[in-house]
Amino acid sequence: MQAALDTLRHVFGYDAFRGAQGEIVAHVAGGGDALVLMPTGGGKSLCYQLPALLREGTAIVVSPLIALMQDQVEALRQLGVRAAFLNSSLDAGAALAVERAFSAGELDLLYVAPERLLTPRFLSLMDQARLALFAIDEAHCVSQWGHDFRPEYRQLTLLHERWPDVPRIALTATADAPTRREIVERLKLEEAQEFVSSFDRRNITYTVVAKQEARRQLLEFLSSRRGQSGIVYCLSRRKVEQTAEALSEKGIVALPYHAGLDSQVRAEHQRRFLREDGIVMCATIAFGMGIDKPDVRFVAHLDLPKSMEGYYQETGRAGRDGDPADAWMSYGLGDAVLLQRMIEEGDSGEDRKRLERRKLDALIGFCESTSCRRQSLLGYFGESHPGACGRCDNCISPPQSWDGTVAAQKALSCVYRTGQRFGAAHVIDVLRGAETQKIQQFGHERLSTYGVGKDLDAKQWRSVMRQLVAGGWLQVDVEGHGALRLTSESAALLKGERTLTLRAEAERLPKARREARA
Ligand code: ADP
Ligand code: ZN
Repeated sequence: MQAALDTLRHVFGYDAFRGAQGEIVAHVAGGGDALVLMPTGGGKSLCYQLPALLREGTAIVVSPLIALMQDQVEALRQLGVRAAFLNSSLDAGAALAVERAFSAGELDLLYVAPERLLTPRFLSLMDQARLALFAIDEAHCVSQWGHDFRPEYRQLTLLHERWPDVPRIALTATADAPTRREIVERLKLEEAQEFVSSFDRRNITYTVVAKQEARRQLLEFLSSRRGQSGIVYCLSRRKVEQTAEALSEKGIVALPYHAGLDSQVRAEHQRRFLREDGIVMCATIAFGMGIDKPDVRFVAHLDLPKSMEGYYQETGRAGRDGDPADAWMSYGLGDAVLLQRMIEEGDSGEDRKRLERRKLDALIGFCESTSCRRQSLLGYFGESHPGACGRCDNCISPPQSWDGTVAAQKALSCVYRTGQRFGAAHVIDVLRGAETQKIQQFGHERLSTYGVGKDLDAKQWRSVMRQLVAGGWLQVDVEGHGALRLTSESAALLKGERTLTLRAEAERLPKARREARA
Protein backbone atom coordinates (compact mmCIF):
# COMPACT_ATOMS: atom_id res chain seq x y z
CA MET A 1 0.00 0.00 0.00
CA GLN A 2 1.74 3.10 -1.24
CA ALA A 3 -0.28 5.53 0.88
CA ALA A 4 0.75 3.63 4.03
CA LEU A 5 4.43 3.70 3.10
CA ASP A 6 4.28 7.39 2.27
CA THR A 7 2.69 8.20 5.61
CA LEU A 8 5.20 5.96 7.40
CA ARG A 9 8.06 7.92 5.87
CA HIS A 10 6.69 11.43 5.84
CA VAL A 11 4.81 11.54 9.10
CA PHE A 12 6.64 9.01 11.28
CA GLY A 13 10.03 9.30 9.64
CA TYR A 14 10.68 5.54 9.39
CA ASP A 15 12.07 3.85 6.28
CA ALA A 16 10.26 0.57 6.51
CA PHE A 17 7.71 -1.39 8.48
CA ARG A 18 8.93 -3.67 11.19
CA GLY A 19 7.78 -7.27 11.28
CA ALA A 20 4.06 -7.60 10.65
CA GLN A 21 3.32 -3.87 10.94
CA GLY A 22 2.75 -3.43 7.20
CA GLU A 23 0.23 -6.26 6.99
CA ILE A 24 -1.58 -5.10 10.11
CA VAL A 25 -1.81 -1.52 8.90
CA ALA A 26 -3.17 -2.63 5.52
CA HIS A 27 -5.71 -4.93 7.15
CA VAL A 28 -7.05 -2.35 9.59
CA ALA A 29 -6.93 0.53 7.12
CA GLY A 30 -9.02 -1.70 4.85
CA GLY A 31 -11.67 -2.00 7.55
CA GLY A 32 -10.76 -5.39 9.08
CA ASP A 33 -10.68 -6.29 12.77
CA ALA A 34 -7.34 -7.39 14.18
CA LEU A 35 -5.85 -8.94 17.28
CA VAL A 36 -2.19 -8.01 17.56
CA LEU A 37 0.20 -9.87 19.86
CA MET A 38 3.58 -8.31 19.84
CA PRO A 39 6.26 -8.14 22.50
CA THR A 40 6.94 -4.93 24.34
CA GLY A 41 8.99 -2.65 22.14
CA GLY A 42 7.77 -4.43 19.02
CA GLY A 43 6.05 -1.36 17.63
CA LYS A 44 2.39 -1.84 18.41
CA SER A 45 1.43 1.83 18.47
CA LEU A 46 2.10 2.33 14.80
CA CYS A 47 -0.36 -0.47 13.99
CA TYR A 48 -3.28 1.80 14.91
CA GLN A 49 -1.70 5.25 14.59
CA LEU A 50 -1.03 4.83 10.91
CA PRO A 51 -4.47 3.47 9.91
CA ALA A 52 -5.91 6.31 11.98
CA LEU A 53 -4.34 8.72 9.51
CA LEU A 54 -5.33 6.71 6.45
CA ARG A 55 -8.99 6.43 7.39
CA GLU A 56 -11.45 9.24 7.61
CA GLY A 57 -12.62 10.40 11.02
CA THR A 58 -11.13 10.06 14.49
CA ALA A 59 -9.51 6.92 15.86
CA ILE A 60 -10.53 6.18 19.44
CA VAL A 61 -7.71 4.61 21.45
CA VAL A 62 -8.72 2.92 24.69
CA SER A 63 -5.83 2.75 27.11
CA PRO A 64 -5.67 2.18 30.86
CA LEU A 65 -2.35 3.94 31.28
CA ILE A 66 -2.74 7.64 31.91
CA ALA A 67 0.99 8.41 31.89
CA LEU A 68 1.46 6.61 28.61
CA MET A 69 -1.43 8.44 26.97
CA GLN A 70 0.15 11.74 27.70
CA ASP A 71 3.53 10.68 26.33
CA GLN A 72 2.04 9.27 23.16
CA VAL A 73 -0.10 12.30 22.50
CA GLU A 74 2.87 14.60 22.96
CA ALA A 75 4.99 12.49 20.62
CA LEU A 76 2.23 12.48 17.99
CA ARG A 77 1.75 16.23 18.19
CA GLN A 78 5.44 16.70 17.55
CA LEU A 79 4.97 14.74 14.34
CA GLY A 80 2.17 17.09 13.39
CA VAL A 81 -0.60 14.58 14.09
CA ARG A 82 -3.80 15.98 15.62
CA ALA A 83 -4.02 13.95 18.83
CA ALA A 84 -5.54 14.49 22.27
CA PHE A 85 -6.48 12.52 25.35
CA LEU A 86 -9.33 12.42 27.82
CA ASN A 87 -8.75 11.11 31.32
CA SER A 88 -9.03 12.07 34.96
CA SER A 89 -5.84 14.15 34.83
CA LEU A 90 -7.60 16.89 32.83
CA ASP A 91 -9.64 19.59 34.51
CA ALA A 92 -13.19 20.23 33.34
CA GLY A 93 -12.24 23.11 31.04
CA ALA A 94 -9.47 21.19 29.30
CA ALA A 95 -11.71 18.15 28.89
CA LEU A 96 -14.42 20.28 27.34
CA ALA A 97 -11.98 21.72 24.83
CA VAL A 98 -10.93 18.21 23.78
CA GLU A 99 -14.57 17.14 23.41
CA ARG A 100 -15.29 20.16 21.22
CA ALA A 101 -12.32 19.43 18.99
CA PHE A 102 -13.49 15.84 18.69
CA SER A 103 -17.03 16.85 17.77
CA ALA A 104 -15.73 19.33 15.24
CA GLY A 105 -13.79 16.56 13.50
CA GLU A 106 -10.47 18.17 14.30
CA LEU A 107 -8.76 15.09 15.77
CA ASP A 108 -6.99 12.19 14.09
CA LEU A 109 -6.58 10.26 17.33
CA LEU A 110 -8.29 10.52 20.68
CA TYR A 111 -6.94 8.52 23.63
CA VAL A 112 -9.59 7.74 26.23
CA ALA A 113 -9.51 5.95 29.57
CA PRO A 114 -12.03 3.08 29.54
CA GLU A 115 -14.19 4.45 32.35
CA ARG A 116 -14.45 7.74 30.49
CA LEU A 117 -15.33 6.09 27.23
CA LEU A 118 -18.25 4.23 28.77
CA THR A 119 -20.01 7.34 30.12
CA PRO A 120 -23.33 8.18 28.42
CA ARG A 121 -21.92 11.59 27.65
CA PHE A 122 -18.97 10.27 25.70
CA LEU A 123 -21.01 7.57 23.97
CA SER A 124 -23.37 10.19 22.61
CA LEU A 125 -20.43 12.32 21.48
CA MET A 126 -19.20 9.31 19.52
CA ASP A 127 -22.66 8.87 18.01
CA GLN A 128 -22.34 12.24 16.40
CA ALA A 129 -18.73 11.93 15.34
CA ARG A 130 -17.09 10.22 12.43
CA LEU A 131 -15.09 7.26 13.75
CA ALA A 132 -12.03 5.89 11.94
CA LEU A 133 -11.40 2.88 14.16
CA PHE A 134 -11.27 1.61 17.73
CA ALA A 135 -7.92 0.61 19.14
CA ILE A 136 -8.02 -1.35 22.39
CA ASP A 137 -4.55 -1.16 23.89
CA GLU A 138 -3.37 -3.48 26.68
CA ALA A 139 -6.21 -5.79 25.70
CA HIS A 140 -5.16 -8.38 28.30
CA CYS A 141 -6.74 -6.07 30.90
CA VAL A 142 -9.97 -7.84 29.97
CA SER A 143 -8.64 -11.03 31.56
CA GLN A 144 -9.59 -11.69 35.12
CA TRP A 145 -6.59 -13.97 35.57
CA GLY A 146 -4.01 -11.36 34.74
CA HIS A 147 -2.47 -8.83 37.09
CA ASP A 148 -3.98 -5.88 35.28
CA PHE A 149 -7.65 -6.78 35.25
CA ARG A 150 -9.89 -3.80 34.48
CA PRO A 151 -13.59 -4.54 34.87
CA GLU A 152 -14.49 -1.75 32.41
CA TYR A 153 -12.71 -3.64 29.67
CA ARG A 154 -15.45 -6.25 29.82
CA GLN A 155 -17.94 -3.66 28.61
CA LEU A 156 -15.99 -2.77 25.51
CA THR A 157 -18.04 -5.22 23.44
CA LEU A 158 -20.49 -2.36 23.43
CA LEU A 159 -18.31 -0.64 20.82
CA HIS A 160 -18.84 -3.48 18.42
CA GLU A 161 -22.56 -3.67 19.11
CA ARG A 162 -23.15 0.03 18.72
CA TRP A 163 -20.77 0.71 15.80
CA PRO A 164 -20.53 -2.60 13.93
CA ASP A 165 -18.92 -1.02 10.88
CA VAL A 166 -16.01 0.61 12.67
CA PRO A 167 -12.94 -1.66 12.61
CA ARG A 168 -11.39 -2.70 15.90
CA ILE A 169 -7.80 -3.50 16.66
CA ALA A 170 -6.92 -5.04 20.04
CA LEU A 171 -3.28 -5.09 21.08
CA THR A 172 -1.31 -6.76 23.85
CA ALA A 173 2.15 -7.95 24.79
CA THR A 174 0.73 -10.75 26.91
CA ALA A 175 0.91 -13.81 24.79
CA ASP A 176 -0.11 -16.94 26.63
CA ALA A 177 -2.83 -18.98 25.01
CA PRO A 178 -5.47 -18.76 27.79
CA THR A 179 -5.26 -14.96 27.86
CA ARG A 180 -5.43 -14.81 24.09
CA ARG A 181 -8.56 -16.97 24.07
CA GLU A 182 -10.11 -14.81 26.75
CA ILE A 183 -9.44 -11.62 24.81
CA VAL A 184 -11.09 -13.07 21.71
CA GLU A 185 -14.10 -14.24 23.68
CA ARG A 186 -14.57 -11.22 25.92
CA LEU A 187 -14.10 -8.64 23.21
CA LYS A 188 -16.02 -10.69 20.64
CA LEU A 189 -13.12 -10.77 18.24
CA GLU A 190 -13.89 -14.19 16.74
CA GLU A 191 -13.83 -12.71 13.25
CA ALA A 192 -10.67 -10.72 13.79
CA GLN A 193 -7.46 -11.69 12.07
CA GLU A 194 -4.74 -12.61 14.55
CA PHE A 195 -1.24 -11.28 14.07
CA VAL A 196 1.17 -13.07 16.38
CA SER A 197 4.77 -11.89 16.37
CA SER A 198 7.69 -13.79 17.75
CA PHE A 199 8.13 -12.99 21.40
CA ASP A 200 11.82 -13.65 21.32
CA ARG A 201 13.75 -10.72 22.73
CA ARG A 202 16.96 -11.58 20.96
CA ASN A 203 19.10 -8.91 22.58
CA ILE A 204 18.37 -10.06 26.13
CA THR A 205 20.71 -12.54 27.85
CA TYR A 206 18.95 -14.61 30.52
CA THR A 207 20.72 -15.78 33.67
CA VAL A 208 19.37 -17.51 36.79
CA VAL A 209 21.71 -18.04 39.75
CA ALA A 210 21.15 -20.16 42.83
CA LYS A 211 20.61 -17.80 45.72
CA GLN A 212 23.48 -17.92 48.20
CA GLU A 213 24.05 -14.45 49.54
CA ALA A 214 21.70 -12.59 47.26
CA ARG A 215 22.98 -9.11 47.90
CA ARG A 216 26.62 -9.99 47.36
CA GLN A 217 25.65 -11.83 44.19
CA LEU A 218 23.74 -8.79 43.00
CA LEU A 219 26.72 -6.52 43.69
CA GLU A 220 28.92 -8.86 41.72
CA PHE A 221 26.47 -8.77 38.84
CA LEU A 222 26.38 -4.96 39.04
CA SER A 223 30.14 -4.54 39.31
CA SER A 224 30.64 -4.75 35.56
CA ARG A 225 27.60 -2.57 34.89
CA ARG A 226 28.53 0.68 36.56
CA GLY A 227 26.85 3.68 35.00
CA GLN A 228 24.12 1.63 33.33
CA SER A 229 20.42 2.13 33.95
CA GLY A 230 18.63 -0.84 35.39
CA ILE A 231 15.82 -2.13 37.54
CA VAL A 232 16.17 -4.41 40.58
CA TYR A 233 12.88 -6.06 41.51
CA CYS A 234 12.21 -7.16 45.09
CA LEU A 235 9.10 -8.76 46.53
CA SER A 236 8.55 -6.53 49.56
CA ARG A 237 8.66 -2.80 50.20
CA ARG A 238 11.08 -3.30 53.05
CA LYS A 239 13.48 -5.21 50.86
CA VAL A 240 13.22 -2.51 48.18
CA GLU A 241 14.37 0.09 50.70
CA GLN A 242 17.10 -2.09 52.16
CA THR A 243 18.45 -2.92 48.73
CA ALA A 244 18.44 0.70 47.60
CA GLU A 245 20.32 1.63 50.75
CA ALA A 246 22.86 -1.16 50.40
CA LEU A 247 23.57 -0.25 46.78
CA SER A 248 23.87 3.43 47.65
CA GLU A 249 26.45 2.56 50.28
CA LYS A 250 28.50 0.98 47.52
CA GLY A 251 28.39 4.18 45.52
CA ILE A 252 25.66 3.10 43.09
CA VAL A 253 22.95 5.67 42.42
CA ALA A 254 19.97 3.61 43.55
CA LEU A 255 16.43 4.82 44.29
CA PRO A 256 13.53 3.00 45.92
CA TYR A 257 10.10 2.76 44.31
CA HIS A 258 7.02 1.09 45.79
CA ALA A 259 3.37 1.82 46.40
CA GLY A 260 4.00 2.71 50.05
CA LEU A 261 6.08 5.76 49.20
CA ASP A 262 4.64 9.22 49.03
CA SER A 263 3.32 9.87 45.53
CA GLN A 264 5.59 12.88 45.10
CA VAL A 265 8.66 10.85 46.00
CA ARG A 266 7.55 8.15 43.59
CA ALA A 267 7.04 10.63 40.78
CA GLU A 268 10.40 12.24 41.47
CA HIS A 269 12.23 8.89 41.45
CA GLN A 270 10.51 7.86 38.26
CA ARG A 271 11.38 11.17 36.64
CA ARG A 272 15.04 10.82 37.59
CA PHE A 273 15.16 7.26 36.33
CA LEU A 274 13.77 8.36 32.97
CA ARG A 275 15.88 11.49 32.54
CA GLU A 276 19.22 10.65 34.11
CA ASP A 277 21.72 8.04 33.06
CA GLY A 278 22.90 5.20 35.22
CA ILE A 279 20.18 5.08 37.85
CA VAL A 280 19.32 1.73 39.41
CA MET A 281 15.68 1.62 40.42
CA CYS A 282 15.00 -0.78 43.29
CA ALA A 283 11.32 -1.51 43.01
CA THR A 284 8.37 -3.74 43.61
CA ILE A 285 6.40 -4.71 40.54
CA ALA A 286 4.37 -1.54 41.11
CA PHE A 287 7.10 0.00 38.97
CA GLY A 288 7.40 -0.47 35.27
CA MET A 289 4.05 -0.79 33.57
CA GLY A 290 3.89 1.80 30.86
CA ILE A 291 7.41 3.05 31.50
CA ASP A 292 9.06 3.50 28.17
CA LYS A 293 12.78 3.90 28.73
CA PRO A 294 14.60 2.42 25.77
CA ASP A 295 18.07 2.07 27.31
CA VAL A 296 17.39 0.02 30.43
CA ARG A 297 20.45 -2.25 30.29
CA PHE A 298 19.45 -4.80 32.91
CA VAL A 299 16.55 -6.08 34.94
CA ALA A 300 17.55 -8.03 38.05
CA HIS A 301 15.16 -10.10 40.17
CA LEU A 302 16.33 -10.47 43.72
CA ASP A 303 13.17 -12.46 44.40
CA LEU A 304 11.13 -14.75 42.24
CA PRO A 305 8.42 -13.12 40.12
CA LYS A 306 4.94 -14.59 40.46
CA SER A 307 4.72 -16.30 37.09
CA MET A 308 6.37 -16.74 33.73
CA GLU A 309 4.17 -13.94 32.39
CA GLY A 310 5.43 -11.66 35.13
CA TYR A 311 9.02 -12.66 34.45
CA TYR A 312 8.66 -12.05 30.74
CA GLN A 313 6.98 -8.67 31.20
CA GLU A 314 9.42 -7.46 33.82
CA THR A 315 12.57 -8.62 32.02
CA GLY A 316 11.09 -7.23 28.81
CA ARG A 317 11.67 -3.73 30.13
CA ALA A 318 15.35 -4.22 29.43
CA GLY A 319 16.85 -3.41 26.06
CA ARG A 320 13.92 -1.92 24.23
CA ASP A 321 16.41 -0.08 22.05
CA GLY A 322 17.62 -3.39 20.67
CA ASP A 323 21.13 -3.16 22.18
CA PRO A 324 22.38 -6.03 24.35
CA ALA A 325 20.73 -6.20 27.76
CA ASP A 326 20.64 -8.58 30.71
CA ALA A 327 17.92 -10.34 32.64
CA TRP A 328 19.40 -11.67 35.87
CA MET A 329 17.62 -13.49 38.67
CA SER A 330 18.63 -15.11 41.93
CA TYR A 331 16.43 -17.92 43.09
CA GLY A 332 16.33 -20.09 46.20
CA LEU A 333 14.04 -22.51 47.97
CA GLY A 334 12.91 -19.76 50.34
CA ASP A 335 11.43 -17.83 47.41
CA ALA A 336 9.32 -20.75 46.33
CA VAL A 337 8.13 -21.35 49.90
CA LEU A 338 7.26 -17.71 50.42
CA LEU A 339 5.28 -17.45 47.19
CA GLN A 340 3.49 -20.71 47.93
CA ARG A 341 2.53 -19.36 51.30
CA MET A 342 1.29 -16.13 49.76
CA ILE A 343 -0.93 -18.15 47.44
CA GLU A 344 -2.32 -20.33 50.23
CA GLU A 345 -2.90 -17.44 52.59
CA GLY A 346 -4.35 -15.19 49.92
CA ASP A 347 -8.10 -14.83 49.70
CA SER A 348 -8.54 -16.04 46.14
CA GLY A 349 -10.97 -18.85 45.53
CA GLU A 350 -9.81 -22.45 45.12
CA ASP A 351 -9.84 -22.30 41.28
CA ARG A 352 -7.69 -19.26 41.21
CA LYS A 353 -5.30 -20.72 43.76
CA ARG A 354 -4.91 -23.85 41.68
CA LEU A 355 -4.06 -21.67 38.68
CA GLU A 356 -1.57 -19.62 40.70
CA ARG A 357 0.10 -22.80 41.95
CA ARG A 358 0.43 -24.08 38.40
CA LYS A 359 1.93 -20.80 37.28
CA LEU A 360 4.43 -20.80 40.12
CA ASP A 361 5.40 -24.40 39.34
CA ALA A 362 6.08 -23.45 35.74
CA LEU A 363 8.35 -20.65 36.85
CA ILE A 364 10.23 -22.89 39.29
CA GLY A 365 10.64 -25.41 36.50
CA PHE A 366 12.15 -22.67 34.36
CA CYS A 367 14.60 -21.73 37.11
CA GLU A 368 15.71 -25.32 37.64
CA SER A 369 15.93 -26.15 33.97
CA THR A 370 19.32 -27.11 32.58
CA SER A 371 18.35 -26.50 28.97
CA CYS A 372 18.22 -23.29 26.94
CA ARG A 373 16.30 -20.62 28.90
CA ARG A 374 15.12 -18.90 25.77
CA GLN A 375 13.66 -22.15 24.52
CA SER A 376 11.82 -22.78 27.82
CA LEU A 377 10.58 -19.21 28.07
CA LEU A 378 9.23 -19.07 24.53
CA GLY A 379 7.92 -22.62 24.84
CA TYR A 380 5.79 -21.51 27.75
CA PHE A 381 4.10 -19.01 25.46
CA GLY A 382 3.58 -21.65 22.81
CA GLU A 383 6.39 -20.55 20.54
CA SER A 384 8.99 -23.06 19.46
CA HIS A 385 12.67 -22.23 19.45
CA PRO A 386 15.47 -24.62 18.42
CA GLY A 387 17.45 -23.93 21.62
CA ALA A 388 21.22 -23.42 21.86
CA CYS A 389 20.55 -19.68 21.71
CA GLY A 390 24.02 -18.72 22.89
CA ARG A 391 22.54 -15.92 24.98
CA CYS A 392 21.49 -17.58 28.21
CA ASP A 393 23.51 -18.96 31.12
CA ASN A 394 22.70 -22.57 30.27
CA CYS A 395 23.93 -22.15 26.70
CA ILE A 396 26.95 -20.02 27.58
CA SER A 397 28.22 -22.33 30.33
CA PRO A 398 26.22 -25.55 30.41
CA PRO A 399 25.56 -26.67 33.98
CA GLN A 400 27.25 -29.80 35.27
CA SER A 401 25.04 -32.53 36.59
CA TRP A 402 25.66 -35.32 39.07
CA ASP A 403 23.95 -38.50 40.25
CA GLY A 404 22.03 -37.28 43.26
CA THR A 405 20.16 -40.52 43.97
CA VAL A 406 21.97 -41.37 47.20
CA ALA A 407 21.90 -37.79 48.46
CA ALA A 408 18.19 -37.62 47.71
CA GLN A 409 17.57 -40.87 49.61
CA LYS A 410 19.44 -39.50 52.62
CA ALA A 411 17.47 -36.28 52.50
CA LEU A 412 14.09 -37.96 52.13
CA SER A 413 14.72 -40.43 54.90
CA CYS A 414 15.96 -37.66 57.18
CA VAL A 415 12.76 -35.73 56.51
CA TYR A 416 10.80 -38.85 57.35
CA ARG A 417 12.73 -39.67 60.52
CA THR A 418 12.46 -36.17 61.91
CA GLY A 419 8.70 -36.51 61.63
CA GLN A 420 8.03 -34.31 58.54
CA ARG A 421 7.74 -31.34 60.85
CA PHE A 422 10.89 -29.35 60.08
CA GLY A 423 12.11 -26.98 57.43
CA ALA A 424 15.15 -27.45 55.21
CA ALA A 425 17.60 -25.72 57.56
CA HIS A 426 17.07 -28.15 60.41
CA VAL A 427 17.00 -31.22 58.18
CA ILE A 428 20.33 -30.10 56.73
CA ASP A 429 21.75 -29.64 60.24
CA VAL A 430 20.76 -33.21 61.10
CA LEU A 431 22.22 -34.56 57.87
CA ARG A 432 25.47 -32.70 58.47
CA GLY A 433 25.67 -33.85 62.09
CA ALA A 434 25.55 -30.34 63.48
CA GLU A 435 25.34 -29.70 67.20
CA THR A 436 22.47 -27.28 67.60
CA GLN A 437 20.14 -26.67 70.44
CA LYS A 438 17.19 -27.75 68.34
CA ILE A 439 18.86 -31.08 67.58
CA GLN A 440 19.45 -31.68 71.29
CA GLN A 441 15.96 -30.57 72.19
CA PHE A 442 14.38 -33.15 69.87
CA GLY A 443 17.03 -35.82 70.41
CA HIS A 444 17.77 -35.86 66.71
CA GLU A 445 21.42 -36.75 67.29
CA ARG A 446 20.15 -40.27 68.04
CA LEU A 447 18.55 -40.71 64.59
CA SER A 448 20.16 -43.08 62.11
CA THR A 449 20.35 -40.28 59.58
CA TYR A 450 22.26 -37.98 61.92
CA GLY A 451 25.54 -37.04 60.29
CA VAL A 452 25.10 -39.25 57.20
CA GLY A 453 25.41 -36.24 54.94
CA LYS A 454 28.82 -34.90 55.93
CA ASP A 455 30.10 -35.49 52.40
CA LEU A 456 28.20 -32.42 51.17
CA ASP A 457 28.41 -28.91 52.58
CA ALA A 458 25.37 -26.90 53.64
CA LYS A 459 25.25 -25.02 50.34
CA GLN A 460 25.20 -28.26 48.38
CA TRP A 461 22.44 -29.61 50.60
CA ARG A 462 20.36 -26.48 50.07
CA SER A 463 20.68 -27.07 46.38
CA VAL A 464 19.58 -30.71 46.79
CA MET A 465 16.58 -29.72 48.91
CA ARG A 466 15.54 -27.03 46.48
CA GLN A 467 15.69 -29.40 43.55
CA LEU A 468 13.79 -32.08 45.45
CA VAL A 469 10.99 -29.62 46.14
CA ALA A 470 11.04 -28.28 42.59
CA GLY A 471 10.88 -31.83 41.23
CA GLY A 472 7.94 -32.78 43.44
CA TRP A 473 9.92 -35.29 45.56
CA LEU A 474 9.32 -33.18 48.63
CA GLN A 475 6.60 -30.73 49.36
CA VAL A 476 6.58 -27.71 51.57
CA ASP A 477 3.79 -27.56 54.11
CA VAL A 478 3.05 -23.87 54.08
CA GLU A 479 0.64 -24.17 56.97
CA GLY A 480 3.28 -25.99 59.00
CA HIS A 481 5.76 -23.10 58.76
CA GLY A 482 7.59 -24.46 55.79
CA ALA A 483 7.96 -28.02 57.08
CA LEU A 484 9.10 -30.49 54.44
CA ARG A 485 6.98 -33.57 53.79
CA LEU A 486 7.28 -36.59 51.56
CA THR A 487 5.04 -36.83 48.52
CA SER A 488 3.43 -39.75 46.73
CA GLU A 489 6.49 -39.71 44.45
CA SER A 490 9.05 -40.06 47.23
CA ALA A 491 8.70 -43.81 47.76
CA ALA A 492 10.06 -44.76 44.34
CA LEU A 493 13.23 -42.81 45.03
CA LEU A 494 13.61 -44.12 48.57
CA LYS A 495 13.21 -47.72 47.43
CA GLY A 496 15.83 -47.19 44.75
CA GLU A 497 13.32 -47.82 41.97
CA ARG A 498 14.63 -44.85 40.13
CA THR A 499 17.63 -42.56 40.00
CA LEU A 500 17.87 -38.81 40.09
CA THR A 501 20.19 -36.49 38.23
CA LEU A 502 20.75 -33.14 39.89
CA ARG A 503 22.20 -29.92 38.68
CA ALA A 504 25.55 -28.93 40.15
CA GLU A 505 25.61 -25.43 41.50
CA ALA A 506 28.73 -23.91 40.00
CA GLU A 507 28.60 -20.29 40.93
CA ARG A 508 29.23 -18.15 37.93
CA LEU A 509 31.87 -15.69 38.97
CA PRO A 510 32.71 -12.64 36.93
CA LYS A 511 35.40 -13.52 34.44
CA ALA A 512 38.20 -11.59 36.12
CA ARG A 513 37.76 -13.44 39.42
CA ARG A 514 37.45 -16.78 37.73
CA GLU A 515 40.78 -16.23 36.01
CA ALA A 516 42.41 -15.00 39.19
CA ARG A 517 41.40 -18.23 40.88
CA ALA A 518 42.63 -20.47 38.11
P1 ADP B 1 5.18 -1.31 21.94
O1 ADP B 1 3.96 -0.46 22.15
O2 ADP B 1 4.90 -2.53 21.13
O3 ADP B 1 5.92 -1.60 23.21
P2 ADP B 1 6.12 0.99 20.56
O4 ADP B 1 4.97 1.20 19.68
O5 ADP B 1 6.27 1.88 21.74
O6 ADP B 1 6.19 -0.51 21.05
O7 ADP B 1 7.44 1.03 19.68
C1 ADP B 1 8.68 0.71 20.23
C2 ADP B 1 9.77 1.55 19.58
O8 ADP B 1 9.98 1.16 18.22
C3 ADP B 1 9.44 3.03 19.55
O9 ADP B 1 10.58 3.75 19.95
C4 ADP B 1 9.08 3.29 18.10
O10 ADP B 1 9.36 4.61 17.75
C5 ADP B 1 9.94 2.29 17.34
N1 ADP B 1 9.36 1.86 16.06
C6 ADP B 1 8.12 1.38 15.86
N2 ADP B 1 7.92 1.06 14.56
C7 ADP B 1 9.08 1.33 13.93
C8 ADP B 1 9.53 1.20 12.55
N3 ADP B 1 8.73 0.72 11.59
N4 ADP B 1 10.79 1.56 12.29
C9 ADP B 1 11.61 2.03 13.27
N5 ADP B 1 11.25 2.20 14.55
C10 ADP B 1 10.00 1.83 14.89
ZN1 ZN C 1 19.97 -20.51 25.47
